[in-house]
Amino acid sequence: MRPTMVAGNWKMNGLSGDAVHLTQAILHAGLEPMRPEVVIFPPFTLLHAVSQEAKSSALRWGGQNLFWEASGAYTGEISGAMLRDMGCRYVLIGHSERRQIFAESDAQIVQKIKAALLSGLIPVVCVGETEAERAQGLTDAVLRRQLEAVLPLLNLEASQPNLIIAYEPVWAIGTGLSASPEQAQAVHVFIRELAAAYSAQLARRLLLLYGGSVKGNNAAALFDQADIDGALVGGASLQAGEFIQICHAAE
Ligand code: 13P
Repeated sequence: MRPTMVAGNWKMNGLSGDAVHLTQAILHAGLEPMRPEVVIFPPFTLLHAVSQEAKSSALRWGGQNLFWEASGAYTGEISGAMLRDMGCRYVLIGHSERRQIFAESDAQIVQKIKAALLSGLIPVVCVGETEAERAQGLTDAVLRRQLEAVLPLLNLEASQPNLIIAYEPVWAIGTGLSASPEQAQAVHVFIRELAAAYSAQLARRLLLLYGGSVKGNNAAALFDQADIDGALVGGASLQAGEFIQICHAAE
């Protein structure tokens, strides 16, 4: 059985006091250590506060983005080494909000994944189709395009995958309209098949998270699907009770 992960993407929300409260609530929830692995992605400004709360626990944290250069005159950007310095193990890359609002391209996303891997971070690479793309029957084609330069970055020498994929259909993000377990499962199978073209073994072990309106009351049905290994949670990760319920559903 593959390990499971529940990750909370706080997006651009929270001040230091909120970060401390939310992190402490998760730490005090009595979650099984490491099963699932629970990860939070706070804004950069809260990474230090989260790391201070969570440093001697099984809770992990990561950055929501990074820039591909190691250092230099890139005003406003954050490097992989800076995230590592904050104790991050993971980094989100290619979230649909980055793709849509900040016009990140597939090529830039690949550069970011390479930089993350070089820094020793585990990229959580987000992919997913828009509502219009799904309506036109383009879901598979969009995912194939988004992943075709990503999957060759799998380290075929390693026994465990060096990256994680999060399937986040854009139409399900923040809408309250989650993909059905069957819809999500079908896409996860498709992604795993794409990965199997590179390595059948790594594909079996590849962590595939589903994201898009995951809540306490729909998480268990999603996790029941064979190829859904966890969740990337947005809005519900800002409410301690709701997030903890999702974590328990993955135990
Ligand atoms: P919601 O859970 O708010 O739909 O957001 C999902 C998401 O974008 C996580 O990265």
